[in-house]
Amino acid sequence: MTELLPEFTLLQPGSIDEAIAMYADRDATREAIRYVAGGTDLLVNMRRGIGDPETLISLNGVADLTAVTENSDGSATLGAGVTLAVLIEHSTIMDRYPAVAHAAREIAGPGHRESGTVGGNLCLDTRCVFYNQSLWWRQSNDYCLKYKGDICHVAPKGDFCHAAFSGDLAPVFLVLGVEIEIVGPEGTRRIPLLELYTGDGMDHLTLKPGELLTAVHLPAEPLPALYEKHRVRGAIDFPLAGVAVALSGENGKVETLTIAVTGTNTNPFLVEDLDGFAGSSLDEDDQTRLAEIVQKQVSPMKTTLVQPYGRRRIAGAMARRLAVRLLETA
Ligand SMILES: Cc1cc2nc3c(=O)[nH]c(=O)nc-3n(C[C@H](O)[C@H](O)[C@H](O)COP(=O)(O)OP(=O)(O)OC[C@H]3O[C@@H](n4cnc5c(N)ncnc54)[C@H](O)[C@@H]3O)c2cc1C
Ligand code: SF4
Repeated sequence: MTELLPEFTLLQPGSIDEAIAMYADRDATREAIRYVAGGTDLLVNMRRGIGDPETLISLNGVADLTAVTENSDGSATLGAGVTLAVLIEHSTIMDRYPAVAHAAREIAGPGHRESGTVGGNLCLDTRCVFYNQSLWWRQSNDYCLKYKGDICHVAPKGDFCHAAFSGDLAPVFLVLGVEIEIVGPEGTRRIPLLELYTGDGMDHLTLKPGELLTAVHLPAEPLPALYEKHRVRGAIDFPLAGVAVALSGENGKVETLTIAVTGTNTNPFLVEDLDGFAGSSLDEDDQTRLAEIVQKQVSPMKTTLVQPYGRRRIAGAMARRLAVRLLETA
């Protein structure tokens, strides 16, 4: 069955203020009006009958969103409209934040990366094997709680959506400690990236109606970091688990260790209880302990075709491997 995009009105603002004013002017519900950047997530979902907004506000003509800026204090600012392709090849990103460039390179395929943006990646809808399906497939399963249905097929007794956040950039940004800028009808706010996510698979962002993610602020002194993702195919696949690690060390011992995970839980998150690794040389026992700590906090549900147990173990193994690699070169 061919699925066509539903009809919609496309608005094309030239500035951030104009985009926000257009949103406010339409006086529509949140479902009826959406921002769209590269469209590589939103338009695919709409074509599958997930969402039927009457109006899309395209961010493509908003020049203010497309810059990578090196600031005088050594930090850098990424506009939310910077594409993944630009991120991969930008000299500042490659030299100073190579884990960001690496994670961007692991996203989707070359065509998607030409139009997919940083903002779209951070605001990506959550994913589930019962949700990211064609209309006829979901229809024949009576839909599900996340959209148009009454029950969750993953955990039918509950009323919570466990769809996983699966963007690849978020964990790297989290271990680097980035802040994001949000502009909306009520003004501008700057918050740690972690605060963008609610932890609810159904309504996963803390953005208020009309709010726009405009920028990502990268730190002046980033810690060395690495990212690895596990997926079914070697390309064009979302992470079944994605792990970023940032580590500083001296004389073969850990000074600080930060780990973040994507693709498993409803939100990308920072792993807790890692303080005990300061001063560790990451011997075999500590490596095992590290993997166990990560495994415990990773809680995938059956939202992919791959079993949760495997995804949890792999997340632990990737964290261990990346931490050891970083300590070797610290
Ligand atoms: C085949 C395929 C494979 C893929 N594989 C991966 C993968 O491996 N890893 C991965 O991370 N992604 C993957 N993606 C998803 C997607 O390509 C990327 O995540 C991309 O970065 C999304 O950006 P976009 O600009 O296209 O988002 P859009 O589709 O334009 O928007 C996505 C969501 O973000 C919102 N949004 C966009 N910009 C803003 C903003 N500035 N402020 C507020 N809200 C905003 C939109 O309203 C929408 O809800 C894949 C997609 C496809 C089709
Ligand atoms: S976790 Fe449940 S409610 Fe959420 S998308 Fe999957 S089946 Fe639907």
